[in-house]
Amino acid sequence: MPPEKHARDLALVRNFGIVAHIDAGKTTLSERLLFYTGKEHQMGEVHHGTAKMDYLPEEQERGITITAAATTLGWRGHELHLIDTPGHVDFTAEVERSLRVLDGAVVVFDAVNGVEAQSETVWRQATRYHVPRCCFVNKMDRPGADFDRSLESIRARLHGTPVAVTMPVGRGEDLAGVVDLLTLEMLTFGADQGRTVTRGPVPADLQAEAELRRQELVDLVVEHSEAAGEKFLAGETLTVADLKAGLRQATLAARLFPALCGAAFKNVGVQTVLDAVVDYLPSPLDAGAIDGKDPARPDRAEHREPDPDGPLCALAFKIVGDAHGDLTFVRVYSGTLTQGQGLWNPRLGRHERAMRLLRMHANEREAVERAVAGDIVALVGLKETATGDTLCDKKAPIVLESMHFPEPVMSMRIEPKTNADRDRLVEALARLAREDPTFRTHVSPDTGETLIEGMGELHLEVLIHRLVRDLGVAANVGKPRVAYRQTVAGAGEATFTFERQIASKAHVATVTLTVASAPGAGGVSFKNEARPDHVPPVCVAAVERGVRGASGGAAGFAWPAIDVEAVLVDGKTHELVPPSEIAFEAAAAKAYEQAFEAATPVLLEPAMRIEVHTPNEFTGDILADLNRRRVLIESNDQMGDGRVLVGRAPLSSMFGYSTAVRSLSQGRAGYSMEPAGYEPVPPDVAKNLSF
Ligand code: GDP
Repeated sequence: MPPEKHARDLALVRNFGIVAHIDAGKTTLSERLLFYTGKEHQMGEVHHGTAKMDYLPEEQERGITITAAATTLGWRGHELHLIDTPGHVDFTAEVERSLRVLDGAVVVFDAVNGVEAQSETVWRQATRYHVPRCCFVNKMDRPGADFDRSLESIRARLHGTPVAVTMPVGRGEDLAGVVDLLTLEMLTFGADQGRTVTRGPVPADLQAEAELRRQELVDLVVEHSEAAGEKFLAGETLTVADLKAGLRQATLAARLFPALCGAAFKNVGVQTVLDAVVDYLPSPLDAGAIDGKDPARPDRAEHREPDPDGPLCALAFKIVGDAHGDLTFVRVYSGTLTQGQGLWNPRLGRHERAMRLLRMHANEREAVERAVAGDIVALVGLKETATGDTLCDKKAPIVLESMHFPEPVMSMRIEPKTNADRDRLVEALARLAREDPTFRTHVSPDTGETLIEGMGELHLEVLIHRLVRDLGVAANVGKPRVAYRQTVAGAGEATFTFERQIASKAHVATVTLTVASAPGAGGVSFKNEARPDHVPPVCVAAVERGVRGASGGAAGFAWPAIDVEAVLVDGKTHELVPPSEIAFEAAAAKAYEQAFEAATPVLLEPAMRIEVHTPNEFTGDILADLNRRRVLIESNDQMGDGRVLVGRAPLSSMFGYSTAVRSLSQGRAGYSMEPAGYEPVPPDVAKNLSF
């Protein structure tokens, strides 16, 4: 079926992703989905380093998925756009931005472990973006696999109501297939790598259980779907079609989560996942209109319906460096995007041009002439568009809500090996920052060193590899360390006058600023309250630049500021010389630094939420070690035949934890960490820090 044609029927499109705790089997499942939908003719296996979704050399080496790749699949006459997402917490920005552009998700669980730390994180993110979900309980072939216990952990820890639409036949080594609980048939998967699916009767010894589970399904659908509920109350028997429609309605409302089971690695149950994506996850039409703002009047809300004939509106959600130029992945929300068309970028205030449109099939690509509302395509030829930018029609401008990215928590010094590398380094760092919103770089005003910041040791390591290998920059790096931040406890005000002759012209400006604590502001918010006849509008922009420059790392600690509001209270130009932007920018930077000092600076360090899963016998040693690391234990619960410890810790005390936990538990305990905001550095610790 030509994609151009059937993509127009939006009801047949599904934009979905697969999210999971690391090692749950997301990559294996993605591979199988590609295989059964016919795009792949030879199965890739993760451990052979040939998995097709993992196309960066970096990923093939590590056997983990780092960069989300979008790929298009066909199933039952539908067009499925699959976004692969990473499972490692260091790459949480990837998960975040994928969820932003997806309409639905499949959450994969390990049938032995049930809900794990990272499943909770991705579940929360999916809830934040109102993404309807199906659950796939994978690895049913492992000894100790338990479908019901996994479902119970979804109820208890994720507070969602899963509804089983399949059940396993046999478990562990004896896993023989699954029962479709809607049709009450057993599905077996052929010896041809699972390609042939055969439907047959439910084995006699499982009939009672299957009927009981089907009744549970019917009860839940009747309770959570109006249409099914009404039919039921009218005394009608619900057909399979009624149940599917009811379950679809309840899934779209995120009231129910259809749950399936299988073993991707053993080719059991994978096609039921494709069916569930088609049957229960939303099309772009179900996902409805997208909200944004008028860029010129941010108080005015704008909406765009998923209409191919509407004004163009698309979101750039990922940029991947490529030998042939950057690929900008966009989700089109409204209108039609054609090759060569000018795309208005309101943030840049200018047009960008997409020279080519590509539909990605894992690492193969197909050139297409247009993309319509609901599509996900990669654009070639955009020069300055960054992750999170909106692209639209200049006559119908809109800015979509920007994405939520956490502040980086780790920092590292970097310096070019030779002078020749210096310019290349600056360029390469700018490029990495454009691709990856959780990567930052700034220059310490104290030491003049360049610092790079990211989400964890692995994240920084991968970025350094990219610099060296893909971008050809030779650089020396320091040890990874904590990325501190600073804020203020109170409020302060300062006035600074800048006065200097530059190229025989006088530059003079006076700026009065206040700096105050603004919890929840994120970075630094800037407000102008000066009279326009005191500070002309172009100079207000210069003041903001000065404030942003200084707040990026200055004023005492050399770390960027967060949760601070800076207000331009007043200013003055000199009557005899024209207003000077240079003078306002420089005066603002100084006034900001002084006001910041007056507002009682506080040094902050990242805190982490840590979750450790350990067999019972190692609990004592692991707890003692966590204590030494200043971890505040928040819960300590039995789960299966082990314990789950949850706590909060300063990141600085968790360095090298992966080695420690391995040696304390003979390699049997696992853990995960995610950023959990910032905390003031205790004064006795701050005293001994050197920057
Ligand atoms: P990801 O980190 O979620 O992408 O997980 P992977 O797909 O890389 O799988 C992690 C490991 O689990 C690999 O060694 C897979 O071979 C293995 N695995 C995946 N699915 C299954 C399964 O159904 N059964 C078993 N026993 N192992 C599986």
